[in-house]
Amino acid sequence: MFILIKKHLLLMLIFLFCSANSYAKINVFACEPEWASLVQILAGDRVKAFSATTALQDPHHIQARPSLIAKARRADLLICTGAELETGWLPLLLRKSANRKILPGQTGHFMASDHVLLLEKPKQLDRSQGDVHADGNPHIHLDPHRIMRIAEALSRTLSRVDADNQADYQNNWISFKESWSRAIAKWEQLCQSLRGKQIVVNHNSWVYLEDWLKLKRLATLEPKPGIAPGSTHLAQVLVQLKDSQADMILYASYQNDKAVRWLEQKTHIPVVELPFSVSTNETLFEWYDRIINQLLDSQ
Ligand SMILES: [Zn+2]
Repeated sequence: MFILIKKHLLLMLIFLFCSANSYAKINVFACEPEWASLVQILAGDRVKAFSATTALQDPHHIQARPSLIAKARRADLLICTGAELETGWLPLLLRKSANRKILPGQTGHFMASDHVLLLEKPKQLDRSQGDVHADGNPHIHLDPHRIMRIAEALSRTLSRVDADNQADYQNNWISFKESWSRAIAKWEQLCQSLRGKQIVVNHNSWVYLEDWLKLKRLATLEPKPGIAPGSTHLAQVLVQLKDSQADMILYASYQNDKAVRWLEQKTHIPVVELPFSVSTNETLFEWYDRIINQLLDSQ
């Protein structure tokens, strides 16, 4: 009788161990929602992805609060933008979480910007010029072609972090590549009418979008990156816009719209508030659709 119970227990334990193992998910800590969304597409339910920021937060500046440190401590894979975007909080978070798996140089440390060419790399680094990023402009998620390259690299990283399921990641990457290419073609077709449109931006957040859709930036409201515009600078922008009329003023939902609204009042140029990243329950595809639709609607 006793032996029978023991045998039973042993079988149950083996069963529990095996099922726990086959459902063990890869814990992903993403710095921004776009990477959480991308890894979810590439890995499906093999990962549990968490994003440290939402589309309504400024990814340059957040607090490395204890709940984030706890999440980072349990992560198997870290996915961030890099290129100094998170320089104000990520190093501290990594130090405090003391999780070797996600430290620089480890397989579980993935920086999206390492896999693409960056625009606006300063020839000379002068920090007195504001929040200047030495590696170039980090807001790479607004170019779908760069997203494609990042997805390919991320899929390779997933195969290394979770080698048992390599075939799945390979298949997911192939199907993403197909559907993302189709989506890019659709967006590019839709956006032909936007070519050459002249824009004013709040922060230099849209460089990759400008480059992709061939928008022309006339002015930036921030005199230096990360520095709020004062009245002298705004007056200069106003003079500049008298000579060449802009078609729209762009700003990200998380940014302060004070200067943007002031300029709208003075010039009656349409203001377009764009979501800077994927919202909860939205996919990367839907977010791009939303940006494109908002740009087209403003015309
Ligand atoms: Zn920035």
